Amino acid sequence: MNERFHGSFTQQEPIPEEAIEAAVAVLRSGRLHRYNTAPGEIAQTAMLEQEFAAQTGARYALAVASGGYAMATALRAVGIGPGDRVLSNAFTLAPVPGAIAAVGAVPVFVGVTEDLTIDLDDLSAKADRARVLLLSHMRGHICDMDRLMRICTDAGVLVIEDCAHTMGAAWNGTPSGRHGAVGCYSCQTYKHVNAGEGGLLVTDDADIAARAVMLSGSYMLYDKHLAAPAPRAFEDIKYDTPNISGRMDNLRAAILRPQLRELPAQVARWNERYDVLHEGLAGTPGLRLTTRPEAEQFVGSSFQFLLPDWADMQIADVVTRCGAAGVELKWFGAAEPLGFTSRYDSWRYADPVPMPASDRILRAVLDLRVPLTFTLEDCAQIARIIRGAVGAVHQSASAAG
Ligand SMILES: *Cc1c(COP(=O)(O)O)cnc(C)c1O
Repeated sequence: MNERFHGSFTQQEPIPEEAIEAAVAVLRSGRLHRYNTAPGEIAQTAMLEQEFAAQTGARYALAVASGGYAMATALRAVGIGPGDRVLSNAFTLAPVPGAIAAVGAVPVFVGVTEDLTIDLDDLSAKADRARVLLLSHMRGHICDMDRLMRICTDAGVLVIEDCAHTMGAAWNGTPSGRHGAVGCYSCQTYKHVNAGEGGLLVTDDADIAARAVMLSGSYMLYDKHLAAPAPRAFEDIKYDTPNISGRMDNLRAAILRPQLRELPAQVARWNERYDVLHEGLAGTPGLRLTTRPEAEQFVGSSFQFLLPDWADMQIADVVTRCGAAGVELKWFGAAEPLGFTSRYDSWRYADPVPMPASDRILRAVLDLRVPLTFTLEDCAQIARIIRGAVGAVHQSASAAG
């Protein structure tokens, strides 16, 4: 049974025709800059913001250059600056501590649980060390947001959500990004909508929204926004808020608007694929799947499993066997950060304190992308290949042990 998978883990679907046509229309107009509009025209970027605000139920939305830019802007807008400490996940992607470093602040890492969510006991213990938590819903795993918000509210910690992997997800019916003061999203190719690069930020707070608009580089043209606060919110802050250009352009916005309309349908397709992988791997000896509560309405755009307390050599053997069968697994325990798998202890600029309990979990995490170009049959095959590799290594280890 030496089957081989031939799909590509990095191949997304084409941009929808409607989005291509909208993009071509923007190109023909020549008006790519968001503030470059003909008389009476509303910019694509302004419409995108209005639509995304409506979709998430937020009062204000801002489109920017990247997810990382959205997070750094949110931190600046809530007053985080050089030397400040910001709580954040030990298990996340490099742009998250990078956004904290971008404003001169210092991350205080919070541990990860076996279900790959932030460790709320560790958060409770560290909540007095900072006044902001940049919470990353890494790989789409959403923690108990009710408990998290209680911990943060009690400790006076403001929450900024990194929803790079949870655009379209929810906790108990509330969209991801809408529990904290600010929600940040990425529109980078490997996330849930694809503009190549791009980011979105939502908030209900007029002061944060006004500062974010100014920071993004509005040249005092904030009245051209449809999802920004009224001009008076800008009166007091406009002289004190620097322009740190990171606007989105009309071309990207045009590509994104039809994709956002399709998002709920795409989420359903991701979750069908996720379910096939989950079923195919359930009950594999030695392999742990994450448990996900009913309240977590996640988007299964990637899949993780753990090989807890396996020897490094055996995990490496599983990765090699799967790779030889065309299934690319990313291992968060590899000695060196490769591609997307950097860990908190790879971010040496942040001077991370060792976290043995989290290290044990990160060492065990294997991760794969689930692009929508995969069919359900592809997902069943991927699960068979992983199950076979894990089974073979587990068996020989038990025989030897
Ligand atoms: C992709 C990503 C971001 C933002 O990334 P950009 O490339 O800056 O858009 C933030 N957090 C996580 C967890 C991500 O994977």
